[in-house]
Amino acid sequence: MRQRILPVGALALALVSANRADAQRQSGGATTVNAATTADLSLAKPGRDPNQPVDEAYTKKIREYTTEPFFLSPLVDYLPASKTVPTPQAVLGDIAGAPTKLPYSTEVYAYMRMLEKASPRVKVFSIGTTEEGREMIAVAVASDELIAKLDANKAQLARLADPRTINFDDKLAEQIAQTAAPVYYITGTIHSPESGAPTALMELAYRLAVDDSPYIRNIRDNLITLITPIVEVDGRDREVDIFKWHMAHPDETYPNLLYWGHYVAHDNNRDAMGMTLKLSQNVMNTFVDNHAQVLHDLHESVPFLYDNTIGDGPYNAWLDPLLTNEWQMIGWNNVQEMTRFGMPGVFAHGQFDTWSPGYLMFMAATHNGISRLYETFGNGGTAETVERQLSPSETERTWWRQNPPLPRVKWSLRNNNNYEQTGLLVSLSYFANNRQLFLRNFWEKSKRSVNKPKEEGPAAYVLPGDERRKGAQAELLAVMQRQHVEISRATAPFTVSVPAVKPKGAKPDSAKSSATTTRSFPAGSYIIRMDQPFSRIADALLDYQYWSPDDPQKNPYDDTGWTFPEGFNVTAVRVTDPKVLDAKMERVTGQIRAPGGVTGSGSVFAINNNGDNAIATIRYRFPAGDFQAAEEPFAAAGRSFGRGSLIVRNVSRGDLDKAGQELGVPVVALGSAPSVRTHPARAPRVAIMHTWISTQTEGWWRMAFDFNKIPYDYISVQDAANDANLNAKYDVIIFPPAGGSNQQIIEGLPMWRNPMPWKKTELTPNLGGTDETDDIRPGLGWNGLQHLQSFVANGGVLINAVNSADFAVQFGLAPGVSVNEVPRLRVVGSLLRAKVVDDASPIVYGVSDDLAVYSDEGSSFNVSNTRYGGRGGRFPGSNNRATGRGTADDPDFLPGRAPLDSAFQPIELPQAKPWQAAPLSIEQLRNPVNVIPPDQRPRVALRFADQKELLVSGLLDGGSDIAQRPVVVDVPLQKGHVVLFANNPMWRGETLGSYALVFNTLLNWDNLNAGRKLDAR
Ligand SMILES: [Zn+2]
Repeated sequence: MRQRILPVGALALALVSANRADAQRQSGGATTVNAATTADLSLAKPGRDPNQPVDEAYTKKIREYTTEPFFLSPLVDYLPASKTVPTPQAVLGDIAGAPTKLPYSTEVYAYMRMLEKASPRVKVFSIGTTEEGREMIAVAVASDELIAKLDANKAQLARLADPRTINFDDKLAEQIAQTAAPVYYITGTIHSPESGAPTALMELAYRLAVDDSPYIRNIRDNLITLITPIVEVDGRDREVDIFKWHMAHPDETYPNLLYWGHYVAHDNNRDAMGMTLKLSQNVMNTFVDNHAQVLHDLHESVPFLYDNTIGDGPYNAWLDPLLTNEWQMIGWNNVQEMTRFGMPGVFAHGQFDTWSPGYLMFMAATHNGISRLYETFGNGGTAETVERQLSPSETERTWWRQNPPLPRVKWSLRNNNNYEQTGLLVSLSYFANNRQLFLRNFWEKSKRSVNKPKEEGPAAYVLPGDERRKGAQAELLAVMQRQHVEISRATAPFTVSVPAVKPKGAKPDSAKSSATTTRSFPAGSYIIRMDQPFSRIADALLDYQYWSPDDPQKNPYDDTGWTFPEGFNVTAVRVTDPKVLDAKMERVTGQIRAPGGVTGSGSVFAINNNGDNAIATIRYRFPAGDFQAAEEPFAAAGRSFGRGSLIVRNVSRGDLDKAGQELGVPVVALGSAPSVRTHPARAPRVAIMHTWISTQTEGWWRMAFDFNKIPYDYISVQDAANDANLNAKYDVIIFPPAGGSNQQIIEGLPMWRNPMPWKKTELTPNLGGTDETDDIRPGLGWNGLQHLQSFVANGGVLINAVNSADFAVQFGLAPGVSVNEVPRLRVVGSLLRAKVVDDASPIVYGVSDDLAVYSDEGSSFNVSNTRYGGRGGRFPGSNNRATGRGTADDPDFLPGRAPLDSAFQPIELPQAKPWQAAPLSIEQLRNPVNVIPPDQRPRVALRFADQKELLVSGLLDGGSDIAQRPVVVDVPLQKGHVVLFANNPMWRGETLGSYALVFNTLLNWDNLNAGRKLDAR
């Protein structure tokens, strides 16, 4: 521990609190003290300043709304009074955490701006808007001096954040670490039913601005607290609506919060990789622009305060170990201090693994900061005080939870606010006292990130200039840009050494093989250098993941694999050869677009189908245009075009050129149309259908459609139930993965008790907007099922994925298909390799043969030529001979009889592969009641790869049970088709490579039989 050297002037104050110093020392960590004015305060004991008056009325309410004295701490059991600065009561009409009040975002912001107006210690920044246009803010709170020099302080932190700017000058960095104030960024209520944070953060901002106790002054003098009180603003306002509805209908049941953000619910905290949501982008920009050291995200679930930052293994493998040590330091200090206050149920460690970098807090972990997260206890969105009973697993004593939560408690929103504020103040105090240490670490982590090529590798990732899918490549680079990763572009060809070639799909860099070869890249190749401050996030996203089936962690908390180049189906080469950094290159800024527009001359245009998503966009851009899809590859104007390439007429060259340039779609003008078999590629009328049980996973599909500007109607299962002629409105209905069992999809919620509306009303102005209903309870019903069935029978296309595919199979919409039940299999959010089975199927136009698909739990199908074939129908009978004389290959010998004449020999059926239906025997065809006619049999478009190359990234155990099984199946049903996905092709903006499977189905919806070869019988 460093020796304290206290300046004389500070001694008096320091002595005052000397008897309290022991407590601080025991709290662990190296307290580094420098400035004369702060040395004393670092020893301050938590508790009010006796010379500052208390807001008596407010304090009385704090005690009234707190259900037990031990749910308070000396940090929050009073509120200091101020003559000039308003308390949260000014907008709430009551105190923070009152049982009758959840404020809307506008009220929270109004209060923060009142604080800003009243105090020179508060500054409010607008940091962007949500998908629905609501504002997001960040509130800085610090001493008058620090707030006055925010920009100058930021400039200092910028130098620590990027060591290249000060030539890796450790001395200068040390000076900055001694004088600059770190930024501790707190984010509240990303999860809308976890509703305590906004009021806790209103009061916290007040305390930090007003409280004159040495403990709080120490925080405000030494660091800048940055607060985004509401991360999911759209969801917050909806949650308050639900709460108000509940208050107005106290004896009725009330709906779950079905929509949080515009697109997704709980998954908004899984977007820190793809960065597709506005809230992710706004928080990331705020974190990076302020060069913050911490991102501390507030949640509510387990009792009473779980500092889950420390978590459990396996830790994310791309992080700097300095960070994982910081987790331990801050987290255990937190437990220690709150235990000292006598607050029960405060713990760290727990079961949460820190493998996936998809959580909001991980923006800090992957950008040289410190990620932190609290789970505090809440009542599921209501502000009311409620009696709660906890399960034994939540209340038992474990080594990491020595003071567990109580089995039965009355829990209030105020209790929650007490815990959140106390934990945060303890953390802020610890950070203030150790600010130099954490700034040194910040510098060190930034330096090590820039030195990555030298110290750990790789040197760079190269995205080749001759990429087949330039549109997807540009999208992947856009993800990197949203992550604030620097991108360069080669201005000349270059050659580096790479590991010797391995089979396609094999992982790079096996330690066993050191054989190398060289690889050349053309000018225009993109280079993501690892000698940059944010190399870790680039490395984490572009690399492969391997989760061992033997890992002691048996319950992965989230996805185990995410390799972005695989999910986007583009090439990214991991290069360890440092020579790559010497290639001639220039930095790329601004939007990266794939090259596009019209070349050549002529009035017929051809667009090669490479599986890029903009092909569908351009089709919808010109609804009146004549687009034809080529059913075979062809060559024209000296170029080759793959199956599914579009031949366009009746669109002006100028319009097509403009769209092609904007969307990154190359268009070739031809003198005449090529002679190739074609069918119309139409722009169908699409509906995306949701249940009222859960809207989580389908939201990613809506986002994919909006992002690619594919229009659709958004309907619910109730709409399908009420519309007997769906064909009049739609050509394609998409039923993305939905919540609930098959039975629940039909039944909906129980019809007992009262209706539960989800609707925009005066009382609930923020509900609706996406979809509305007077009563969320009714499901699809048998009517709805029948309407979907007749929609397909009349020529419509129904797309189902994962559990909705299971639904289609179970309810007879997909004759000949069964779901492959594999109890032994373990897949948890992995990328798995797929192979094209039938490249003439329009569904796989432009899709490469080695596509990686996202698999949540390892779903796959079986196909059969009989109606109820199932899995058993695939291999009728046994191929093994009976017990008898001779070897296994010999025919049996029948004593006393001549060998069989050939006329009596059975017809040998070809052996079916796991992705094929078993050939029909003459016995099955004798009276083929259950035999599906050849033109109605399932057609497999995509299957899983062989077992040895099946795993791309993540966890796979028991893969032999799904290897080679069907993944995407096109099932004709009378005049229409049901298309089934065992994978989820549209997931978290991470699977752009498999969107084409859906968009192809759209564009070829009335010609899905193209190129189909029918069985003879
Ligand atoms: Zn949460």
